[in-house]
Amino acid sequence: MALDRSTIWPYDERGEPGEFMYQRYGHPTGTAAEKALGELDGGTALLFSSGAGATTALALLLLKPGDTVALGAGGYFGTAQLFEELGRWGVECVDFDQTGPPPDGVQLVWLEAPANPMLTLPDIEAAAAHPAPVVVDSTVATPIHLRPLEQGADYVLHSATKFLAGHHDVLLGAVVCKRAEDAERLHKLRTRTGIVAAPDPAWLLVRSLQTLRLRVERQTETARELAKRLATHAAVQLVRYPGIGGLISFDVADGDAARRVETSTSVITNATSLGGSRTTMESRHRWEGERVPTGLLRLSVGLEDAEVLWSDLEGALSQV
Ligand code: PLP
Repeated sequence: MALDRSTIWPYDERGEPGEFMYQRYGHPTGTAAEKALGELDGGTALLFSSGAGATTALALLLLKPGDTVALGAGGYFGTAQLFEELGRWGVECVDFDQTGPPPDGVQLVWLEAPANPMLTLPDIEAAAAHPAPVVVDSTVATPIHLRPLEQGADYVLHSATKFLAGHHDVLLGAVVCKRAEDAERLHKLRTRTGIVAAPDPAWLLVRSLQTLRLRVERQTETARELAKRLATHAAVQLVRYPGIGGLISFDVADGDAARRVETSTSVITNATSLGGSRTTMESRHRWEGERVPTGLLRLSVGLEDAEVLWSDLEGALSQV
């Protein structure tokens, strides 16, 4: 697909704007990426400048002062921080155990499938029975493993930075709406707020979606094997792995042990983020504080050979 970086497109011969006229409203590369992602999730997709940008746009669309959002516990800490920011605007946020039904009296339900890094899977059907709109952040599951709109969710959110783009070279977010009229409202809000994705990352997403199934299936297969082996290792106290996706978290004794493990690998990169082609691992306590155990390590499985990864992990775990 050709990459069109134009910010403007001429009006037609009658002086009327066509489908594209100014990049903040939309551009051909973004529209192509949105069509591909919308088909994967079974709805109408819109791109944003990042996953956090997509979260901001949805929060502004769905909440008003005096509202409360019920947020699945153990999920991405940045989402909780964003809702904390919105406290100044009169929005309250309560955590709940997303494996069960959401609390009564909230105006928005926000789930994560599976939660990063605690890796619980939400009960989407129980949430769909709640009168409030339901958002599922499906960044880790991807549409290869889960199509939340079919289970009653109203919106799916992705940090496309992660598995969807998948090569550690794109920052991008997306929302997929069940109803076209909701997508229209969100599109208007996106244009007005300017939380838009540029053509270059959209082009890279189109490229990456061609290999999404191959990558995610391979990452899942390797993650299943590594989770199984980690669970039998003497230095590992607990493994969290929901059976889908390429993300695992596991606990070693304490923060010192976690630091030794994360700095002792040679194939696995000690870095943040997840969902890329190379395996990354980090202690999450440095970012999330008391929200997670001090010895928690988050492992995002890439495309390397499973035996190579296991031998790297075993070597690192022998340091504790
Ligand atoms: N949702 C989840 C589950 C994430 O893991 C992240 C980032 O780590 C985000 C949203 C935010 O996405 P981004 O970093 O693309 O803004």
